[in-house]
Amino acid sequence: MIEILKENKILENLSKEIKENKLSHGIMLISDDDFALTTYSTEIAKMLMCENLQNCACQECLQCRKIMHNNHADVVCYPKVKNVIATEEMLEIVNEAYKTPFETNKKIFILNNASEMNNQAQNKLLKTLEEPPLYLYFILNVSNESKVLPTVKSRCRKIYLPKFTIQQMKEELKEYNLSSDVLEDVLIFSNGSIALAKKFAQDETFVNTVNFVLDLWLNMTHSSLMLKYASKLYLKKNSFEDILKIFSKVAELLIYEKTKTNKLQLSTKRQNQFSILAEQFSLPALKGISENCITANERLQRNCNYNITIDMFLMSFLEEKNKWR
Ligand SMILES: [Zn+2]
Repeated sequence: MIEILKENKILENLSKEIKENKLSHGIMLISDDDFALTTYSTEIAKMLMCENLQNCACQECLQCRKIMHNNHADVVCYPKVKNVIATEEMLEIVNEAYKTPFETNKKIFILNNASEMNNQAQNKLLKTLEEPPLYLYFILNVSNESKVLPTVKSRCRKIYLPKFTIQQMKEELKEYNLSSDVLEDVLIFSNGSIALAKKFAQDETFVNTVNFVLDLWLNMTHSSLMLKYASKLYLKKNSFEDILKIFSKVAELLIYEKTKTNKLQLSTKRQNQFSILAEQFSLPALKGISENCITANERLQRNCNYNITIDMFLMSFLEEKNKWR
């Protein structure tokens, strides 16, 4: 993995800053790929601790190895209990922050899901982030920048992580031994996110889900057919967020197809399907449908009534499709 990360300059630039002692004590990594967030935050922790730091961490010294094995007393990941750091846990973190390091002269706190913390927890963090002890570094892993308080953001060095390329993803997915058809779909629909690609690769229902979404795109042509698709979606509440990702990727691919800007080399089977679909939708309809996906996702995040969200989503899909005929 380190070879892949070295293909861009992020780690190299950070290593310069570490050597010159200029690195900010608050680092915010931003990506919608959990895999990228975890990988980069671990590498940065290693670089801060490494005994032989070059352009990246050496991967061999005691510090690097301890971090690799999740076994370094001065590198701590939060949250420890739930999915998101709650206010009580933040109070603990702040307490821990003022205890000097055990093994080394630095201490690193990696805060996962940092954008999901409530405002109270973020505000508790803020004071320590404003004037951290000299030995302390915070790495905030952020998937949704808009949820982070501006005061917290302004205290951090923000780093936008690049998406992985198709080639890099293929390397990372080798272990799953996917057939070429399934691999293609996993690559198309995970949209440069290795975390999502790995989830799809292990999901036995993934192929069916893609087929269901494409069937809906192709065949839900009239409101009389809505119930058939809605009743299936009512049962898929837990996977609807992923279904939406696949759905909106189809819209994106059809926009590429219509504007002839597709850079993906698709197999004949998928290429034919997308060519047929592209004929059925106008460009404004596809843009409208993309926006509908965002709206449906927002409703999902706000815990709006699920079945109503599905009804509205399918209805607006048909509306867009017919409006631009
Ligand atoms: Zn090292």
